[in-house]
Amino acid sequence: VPEFSLIRRLASLVPTSGADIECSIGDDGAVLCPDSGERLVVATDTLNEGTHFLPGADAGALGHKALAVNLSDLAAMGASPRWALLNLSLPREDAAWIEAFGSGFAGLAERTGVRLVGGDTCAGPLSLVVTVLGTQEPGRSLRRDGARPGDDVWVSGCLGDAALALERRLAGRPVEGRLAEALDAPEPRLALGRRLVGVAGACIDVSDGLLADLGHIATASGLGAVLTVADLPASPALAALEDDTRRWSLQLCGGDDYELCFTAPVAQRDTIRGIARDIDLRLTRVGSMEQGAAVRCRAPDGAAFRPARRAWEHFAGSDGG
Ligand code: ADP
Ligand code: MG
Repeated sequence: VPEFSLIRRLASLVPTSGADIECSIGDDGAVLCPDSGERLVVATDTLNEGTHFLPGADAGALGHKALAVNLSDLAAMGASPRWALLNLSLPREDAAWIEAFGSGFAGLAERTGVRLVGGDTCAGPLSLVVTVLGTQEPGRSLRRDGARPGDDVWVSGCLGDAALALERRLAGRPVEGRLAEALDAPEPRLALGRRLVGVAGACIDVSDGLLADLGHIATASGLGAVLTVADLPASPALAALEDDTRRWSLQLCGGDDYELCFTAPVAQRDTIRGIARDIDLRLTRVGSMEQGAAVRCRAPDGAAFRPARRAWEHFAGSDGG
């Protein structure tokens, strides 16, 4: 059966076994061995052609990204990834596509200690669903509801690059270098997430735009927040945009950043700067939590800034039935 040769080929490309795996791909279920006393942290995310990536997207990039967006969720919980499941819906049996996809997936899996232990393969419109399982000590999860009034709001890396890359690609312009990497090969901030355990109050990964995702922390914590738009971290490509309003809107609402946004008491500033140095990752203070129920943005002149675009929303164009 062609389905099984694809699965066999995939399983030969990616890591599938280890001391914490009793039974992997090839049986009705995987048998996994977390250490006793550990918590299991589970997350899943879908990438659909036409919704999450453009038709004809590079298969190797998709292999990386399908895993990366899931690992980003584990990073935001402060967990360490261990195992993954992969549900593939493919329009046709395509050995070359599997080869490239498997290589992209394997590159990130090897670097992060993830083993592929199962999944499902079927015919249909191109769709990639990854489920990741990670572990951590009890009571150590970085949750959305842990922010306190007066806490600093921090963000890792730069914001808005993936959104700018997508805009340019949709306009038929070439996208290269760091900008293309931001969209096609986001790096899950796993080391940061682990280091933030015991330091950050609340944490989330920025997938739908900082404004919306900080909004989730605010709502879960029963607070509001204020962002200083001039402090939002910008790559050289973003900094080169002359229109401030456009740049800030990309940074606040762009989506697909896969950076971590977290809150921490002011007393943790030095510790956080130390973490940034240790893991060689830019960490920027962009605002603070406050009483209230909304996330507001402040322009350099002190006036309120309202972005020109909204966060990414599925079903935004439908009437909701
Ligand atoms: P079942 O009939 O029990 O669902 P399948 O024939 O779907 O089993 O799959 C056979 C084996 O291959 C199972 O161990 C399953 O987990 C694994 N598998 C199937 N598709 C994938 C995939 N895309 N990635 C990883 N493992 C897969
Ligand atoms: Mg099956």
